[in-house]
Amino acid sequence: MHDDSGGIGFREDAVVVVRGGVIETVTSAEAVAELPAAERIDARGQVAMPGLINCHTHAPMVVDSGLRANLGWAFFSSQGPESRERSLEFALRWRGAANGRITTSLAPHAPYTVNDADLEATARLVSDHGLPVRIHAAENAEQTDNSLARCGRTPIETLRRTGLLDVDLLIAHGTGITKKDVPLLRPPEVRPGGGPEG
Ligand SMILES: [Zn+2]
Repeated sequence: MHDDSGGIGFREDAVVVVRGGVIETVTSAEAVAELPAAERIDARGQVAMPGLINCHTHAPMVVDSGLRANLGWAFFSSQGPESRERSLEFALRWRGAANGRITTSLAPHAPYTVNDADLEATARLVSDHGLPVRIHAAENAEQTDNSLARCGRTPIETLRRTGLLDVDLLIAHGTGITKKDVPLLRPPEVRPGGGPEG
């Protein structure tokens, strides 16, 4: 469980009291010995924890699966401007589907498959439509090295330059993010050098 300072700790031999589908308290077995309950679950030897959130997966049919999901249709510059339009159309059409279980993003595939002009256009589009963005970036160290060799900047620097670090952005994979990139991922108002560069 989270403590008051946001740290995560484990409590042994705890009892979780749920009322009306909401956790009312986390306490000890003695404290609830006399408490009337509609159901008691003996979970000795198990751990109670918040549900896991998968931030990025490649999967179809999610409405049918019953999952709650944020979906984006990936697009590539090589497919022309229609593919960006299709990604936007998908995001607008499915936003709020399945009684709100489905939310959507615009999904430029990656800085090495979507050019800077298309990334800039994406940043403008999501501001207009109030959508988040998901993108593969700095997926591994080799990909970051390739980016430095190709254009002299890391994938994260490209995201900053094209304005994507100023919108609601989910970076998928990201294991090639460098130490130097980390300050760029701070909110624009506390980021070194402020907002996007020219
Ligand atoms: Zn991926």
